[in-house]
Parts: sequence; structure tokens; C-alpha cells
Amino acid sequence: MKWFSLFLLLLFSIQPAYSQQFPLADKLNGKYETFKEEEIQQRRFKHSDIEPLIKQLASDPAFEVSTAGYSVEGRPIYLIKVGDGDTNVLFWSQMHGNESTATMALFDLFNFFSENNDQFSDKRNELLENTSLYFIPMLNPDGAERFERRNVLDIDINRDALRLTSPESQILKSVRDSLNPEFGFNLHDQSSYYSVGRSAEPATLSFLAPAYDFEQSENEVRTNAMRLIGYLNAMLQQYIHGKVAKYSDAHEPRAFGDMIQKWGTSTILIESGGYPNDPEKQYIRKLNFISLLTAIDAIAGRKFAKINVDRYYQIPENNRSLTDLLIRRVNMVRKNKKYLVDIGISRRQQIVDSTSYYRATINDIGDLSTSHGYKELDGNTIEVHPGKIYPDTLKNKQAVQQLDFIKLLRKGYTDIIIEDAPDASYLDNIPLNIVAREDYSNEISLGSVPNFILKEDGHIRQVIVNGYIFDTKDDQATSIRNTLVIK
Ligand SMILES: [Zn+2]
Repeated sequence: MKWFSLFLLLLFSIQPAYSQQFPLADKLNGKYETFKEEEIQQRRFKHSDIEPLIKQLASDPAFEVSTAGYSVEGRPIYLIKVGDGDTNVLFWSQMHGNESTATMALFDLFNFFSENNDQFSDKRNELLENTSLYFIPMLNPDGAERFERRNVLDIDINRDALRLTSPESQILKSVRDSLNPEFGFNLHDQSSYYSVGRSAEPATLSFLAPAYDFEQSENEVRTNAMRLIGYLNAMLQQYIHGKVAKYSDAHEPRAFGDMIQKWGTSTILIESGGYPNDPEKQYIRKLNFISLLTAIDAIAGRKFAKINVDRYYQIPENNRSLTDLLIRRVNMVRKNKKYLVDIGISRRQQIVDSTSYYRATINDIGDLSTSHGYKELDGNTIEVHPGKIYPDTLKNKQAVQQLDFIKLLRKGYTDIIIEDAPDASYLDNIPLNIVAREDYSNEISLGSVPNFILKEDGHIRQVIVNGYIFDTKDDQATSIRNTLVIK
């Protein structure tokens, strides 16, 4: 009996994800570099960066490019069409200005459709004969200009679907109403700190078939979105096994996804989250490209129709339980006493002009047994002490550059006080922080920058500088991406 139930369990756990084949996704995965738009390599880009690419598309007879309207600051918002089939599909990205991953993938997708003589030609023709694909890349160009979520009126466009105060919201509504698409793709980014259910896996992609009422009812419009999500999840398990989640089904009447579902378009929300060692989300961009083409193929060939709705509900919900570095069960020394704690550290990207750097913060101290880290250190024999401050005050950055950094790190130094601070907020060639304050201390406390020493048996094993780990066995400090200028 036991063996039989184990057999059944195995059968059911294997069957949903692996019984299907996805030959198109496999081929796209192998040939992605051919279609990747090389002009965009980082998450932060502006309307002026995509405009020349859109102008180029306008000269390609396969595409129709029109101006759907203008943002508050007068930037044109484009509507791009490819294909002549009966089924209309609408994609819109970056209604939140700092959520650009899918926009990058849309330009890869345009490159795919502008090609006409390769191994994908038959498939491409089939897709374009069966569907008319409409795209609004970067719905919120003013927000993208500042890399901020909201538009320049400080309105969250995704809470403006009913009142339609912002011109960007009016554009999305009027495009939707004029096309009445069968499917809509609402393309966003979410924090990289979401995990899949209670697991330690990051929610690399999260999906939702938004509910059109508070009862979370299911009509054909919504269940078709659920079926397609079930199909995409099965495909994605081959690439990011265990890293796909489902967003909460709770209804938000002001959100576009929920309303567009209500207005009769099967709507799929895709949230690009986090993936290990992919801060610029270039792998997640590739996954978007494969997912969107797999979705178009499933729509063109009605492949979603036979997928059971249960496949949607089987996807675990996303859960905000991740951090960048989690140090478990260490003895924090505070006021000369030891306390056994976990320490959570996040590294947040900061933008200055057109460059970025990372500023780390201690975001939690205590029992973090329900949290996970992209990187974890563990050890109840470890003691955590504040990082040491170099005993001499130096004149300037040039004087600091004369020091032997590896030697200093191995002794537990994390900070150097200087008289003349440089203008910069960060350093990427000095693995210790520069401090322009005499009263500086490295107390281990909530909200402070994690600069500390991990000791075991009286020896310094690791030094944490701005949240990055330096192992004292290392000869180089390349693991420290950047340090801070503290003023
Ligand atoms: Zn968003």
C-alpha cells in the first residue's frame, strides 16, 4: 500500500511539468543571441534610447508604427503592429517607469519578427498569419526618464484605470477599446526579494490572471488567461525549475490588469523578479523573450485551450522572504555581551547620473528562520564584531591608494577616515570605505551599513564591507563590487 501511494505521488508530481514538449522554446533558447537588441544592455535606459530603434522599425514594411498619444511631458507613446491575423493581442510594458525588463525583451521580439529568412521562417509566418500583435513599449516614458515608478504627476498609472486622470492611462484605455484584443500582456518588474512560496527560490517570473471582481470569479475570459499561464509555467520549469510564482489573486478595482480582464481581454500579468547574479536582469529578459513567443505560439495554435485551470492554481504564491545576504546563527557582540542572532543584509542599487552603485543596509536582526538569502553564511561558532577603523586620519583619497588593502582587510579594517572627501558617493577601486567624519563608528544596528568582521576561534575569517564578503584566504578583493564614501 505504502509503495503504491509513493508510486502515485511520483506519477502526479512528475506528470504536470514534464509531459509536454516545447520545441519552439528550445530553439529560441539556443538562438537568443541572434535576436538580442545590442543597443540595450542595462535596465536603465530612456525614451531617447528606444526612439531610434522605433524609427528603424517604421522603415521595415513588416511593421506599422503609429503614435498612440503623448506623455505628460510630451514624449510620444508608440503603438507598434506586426502580423495580419484575426486574433488581436496587445502587449504593454513599463507603465511603471523603473520596470524595464520586458521593454528590453520587446525589442528582442521586434528583431525576431523583422528577420524573414532563417530556421524560424515557417513558424514566424504561421504566427503572423494567425495573430495581429500590437505593442506599447514604455507606456510611462516620463517615469523611465527618472527611473521612477510613477508618472510625472506622481500618479501610479496602475491605480488610474477607472479615473483615467493621466494621459498615459487614457492612451492604454483607448488602444484597448479600439482593438478589443483577445489577449493582453501587462508587463512589469517586481522586487528581487520575492521567493516562491515558503521556499528559498527567488520568484524569477511571477504570473497572474487578475480577478475582475472581489469574488475572484472565473469566466471564459479569465480562465483562458489562467490556462495560458499554466502552459507557460510548464515551459519555464525547464529553464528556471522552482522559480516561477503566482501573484495574489486579490482584486484591485483601480488596476489596469483587473479592469482589462473585466473589459473582455484575457489578461496576463508578468512580473520580472530576481535571479542569482543577474542584477541587470539580462537572463530574465531572455526568459521574457522566450515566454512571450511561446505565448504567441500558444494563442496562434489555440494550444492553451486544453490546459486545465488547476495548473494555474498549482503555481505557488510569491512571498517576500528573500534578502541578498543572510548570516545565520552568529554571536553578535554588543555592549560586551554575546547574543545569538541572524542578520539580514540587502544591497540596493543607487543611481547617480548614468552610473549605478550599491549601498548595503542591515535590514533585520533576530530570528530570521522564515527568511532566505541569495547568499547565506551559517555558523554558531562565529562572532560578529564591528569593522575596524584605520587608526590614522589620512589627507585624501590619493594617500589611501598607497595602502596595502588586502593586508588591511585581513586585519579587519573596513573604514579609513580622511580629511578631504572626494565628491563621489562610492568607490569601485578601493575595497574599504572612505569616511569624512571623525565621529564615525561601525555599530552593528538596524539600518546601518554592514561593515563588520566574522571571527571564529579568535581568527578573522571574513570581513563584510558594504555588505560584500571578503574571505581572508583571498588574495584579491574583487568580491567587493563597490564601497562607500561616508560623509
Ligand atoms: Zn509594476
